[in-house]
Amino acid sequence: MIPAEFGATPWGRCWTRTVETTATAVPNPLLPKARSIARNHGATLTTEVGVVTAKVVVSGAESTVRIELPPWPEETKHDAERLIAKSLAANPGLATGDLPDSLEAEFTAAGITFAVPLAEQVATCDCRTRKRPCVHILAGLYALSMRVDERPRLAVELRMDSAAAAEDADPDWIPLTDLDPATFYG
Ligand SMILES: [Zn+2]
Repeated sequence: MIPAEFGATPWGRCWTRTVETTATAVPNPLLPKARSIARNHGATLTTEVGVVTAKVVVSGAESTVRIELPPWPEETKHDAERLIAKSLAANPGLATGDLPDSLEAEFTAAGITFAVPLAEQVATCDCRTRKRPCVHILAGLYALSMRVDERPRLAVELRMDSAAAAEDADPDWIPLTDLDPATFYG
């Protein structure tokens, strides 16, 4: 069962699924602990186009996680920009950082995936555990899922240069560079 606190939006849910979908029938025993870390703000995220880093603190020990998210190819980027502009025009008055739930379905229909499946992720952690993904990486992914639930636009921004998206001249589109991260992510 996915606790309701993760994946409250289809955007965050896609990221939660990357963690919870495994090839084996046995649930990963690290998941409850990873959820607990994320829930208790034990994973501090820094996000930019193509990479998420997380400082994950477990029992006072900090680990640094880095998850690489390949930027979308040009064609995908153009398709995404077009769908976003259309969707925002059809759904005026959204809060800053929000995206319509229906857009996620349109992305899926167009074959655009914004969450990277665990098996395809290039994720590193500086902890000594040999098992990968370790609990720190999993906690970072849960924290990312929460962050994306709070701010769906992040799901898209991680995969493409937002400044390019601003060229759509959509008044609702605020490029990431126009926001002060200190106050925005506070
Ligand atoms: Zn680790």
